[in-house]
Amino acid sequence: MRRIRFESEDGPRWGELEGDSVHLLSGMTGERTGETAAFAGLALLAPCEPRVIVCVGKNYADHVREMGGSELPEEPGLFLKGLNTLARPGDPMPYPAWTENLQYEGELAAVIGKRLHRVERSAALGHVLGYTVAVDVTARDKQRADLQWTRGKSADGFCLLGAWLETELDPSALAVQTRVNGALKQDGNTRDFIFDLPTVLEYISAFMTLEPGDLVLTGTPEGVGPVAHAGRAATRVGR
Ligand code: MG
Repeated sequence: MRRIRFESEDGPRWGELEGDSVHLLSGMTGERTGETAAFAGLALLAPCEPRVIVCVGKNYADHVREMGGSELPEEPGLFLKGLNTLARPGDPMPYPAWTENLQYEGELAAVIGKRLHRVERSAALGHVLGYTVAVDVTARDKQRADLQWTRGKSADGFCLLGAWLETELDPSALAVQTRVNGALKQDGNTRDFIFDLPTVLEYISAFMTLEPGDLVLTGTPEGVGPVAHAGRAATRVGR
């Protein structure tokens, strides 16, 4: 099913999208309440409720090489993005005045549905509520120049997500494509992960408890690059 989050008079609500209709849910992981709404005209919100956004860097060998690396990581290289980075679906990619090299990184994103605490990889995917696409917006010049990645990765609006979660999806072999102004720039597949999602979730949950609503970005394939000021990136994940 496609699960969306949207604005209502009562605050953010969750629903399941079926055709042009939305069946309202009692919460992110809740049941249908019997209420329905028309999808058209809903003000969509990012389909997650994160306390933390955990991202994997360098999780595709071709991307490691294009970034100048010669050795593959032996453990997942994790970093965080701030909650301030979350944009609404359809929001334009911000282009801050202080960067001259703003880049897209198209990624598969997972939203947690059940608490993950020291979970083994064999059970990890059962804790995922659903998947969407993400653009891990990166000010590459500042990522390289600054002591830490905070400015390069966590400026306002630097996490673009898809409009809904796909709850019935096997993340093991999904195409990850990014287009910039219609031109295909990234054409990867999650089967080429260095660390697959179960491994990443086991690794994270060994030291950090993930709660329902938390967001995990799984890394970007090769083909990253800059956008122009008026550019627009669109990432697609699918079979
Ligand atoms: Mg990334």
